[in-house]
Amino acid sequence: MKYKCCDALLHKLAINPDNINFCCSPYDNKLQYLNNYNGEVIDIADYRKRREYYLNMFKSGNIPEACQNCFHVEEKDWDEEIGFKFISISSRTKCSSCDCFYCIQSLGKPEIKKELNTRQCWDIKPIIKELYNENLILKDCIYIIGGGEPTEFPQDELEYLMLVGLMSDVHILILTNGIIYNENIAKLLSVGKVSLKISIDAGTKATYQKIKRVNAYDKVMTNIKKYSQAAKNNPNGIVEAKYIICPGINDNLKEAKAFISKIKKAGCKGLEVALEYSWFNSNKNNPVNGTLRETLSYFREITKNGFGNFGDADSWVASKLEEK
Ligand code: SF4
Ligand code: SF4
Repeated sequence: MKYKCCDALLHKLAINPDNINFCCSPYDNKLQYLNNYNGEVIDIADYRKRREYYLNMFKSGNIPEACQNCFHVEEKDWDEEIGFKFISISSRTKCSSCDCFYCIQSLGKPEIKKELNTRQCWDIKPIIKELYNENLILKDCIYIIGGGEPTEFPQDELEYLMLVGLMSDVHILILTNGIIYNENIAKLLSVGKVSLKISIDAGTKATYQKIKRVNAYDKVMTNIKKYSQAAKNNPNGIVEAKYIICPGINDNLKEAKAFISKIKKAGCKGLEVALEYSWFNSNKNNPVNGTLRETLSYFREITKNGFGNFGDADSWVASKLEEK
């Protein structure tokens, strides 16, 4: 039966500093599972009940308010098997190595991303263990460690999070700004247990400085080379670069082409392109023209040829480029 729904509701768990959501997309509201979360073990029966409740809303065409404008809503035959394809862990908000103007951790409250002011991560293991016992971790599940900036977490916490992933036999994906090189990550890349997604957003130092507001472009490119070198003999250790298109700043072909040329030279095996979410949330219903259209077409061509993807924004980009 075809109906409107989204994969995150059915198969994702996003564990954040003080809540657990069905998704972590910054592009719209998020559908919450638990508010005021403080590290407790999840009540699986309750989780099942809430998932069922929202699923029935979707099936009856009564889309939950948080999901009404979300581009992840799609009409198709859905795989309703209960279980997780993505478990995303962002227990901490700290990131003092970087200062992206779009950072969701600092919007309105710059101080929250400078400090280790959020929950430690020791509650993750009991949660993952419980999901295992309940057979809720699906084959090929991706265990995403984000933040904040994971390389700034206390070293024992990052090691602990990676260890939980290793013991759970899931592939670990670490989201990082790439500014701080981490030897343990490099070792796990070399044996194909970890992949990295490094956000860069620029093909030149000047643009990087405008977006990230720190002088670290050369350092990041050097670290990408080192990580790529570590991963080079293992096809499962993937170093991927991320480019968040920020209209008016980096949405021009010159920047995009310089970026692609540099990340390929540095050894990246993949790419994710995204749209800056504040811009996106205000402009998603407008036509796309000018340099942005050219840049989207350029990235679309590259991703169609097998190098990377548009992640969450894929169907939106495709539909915008089809409009005359
Ligand atoms: S439709 Fe959007 S807001 Fe709702 S659960 Fe899915 S990704 Fe989250
Ligand atoms: S790297 Fe991530 S956490 Fe750090 S400032 Fe940028 S968006 Fe925020």
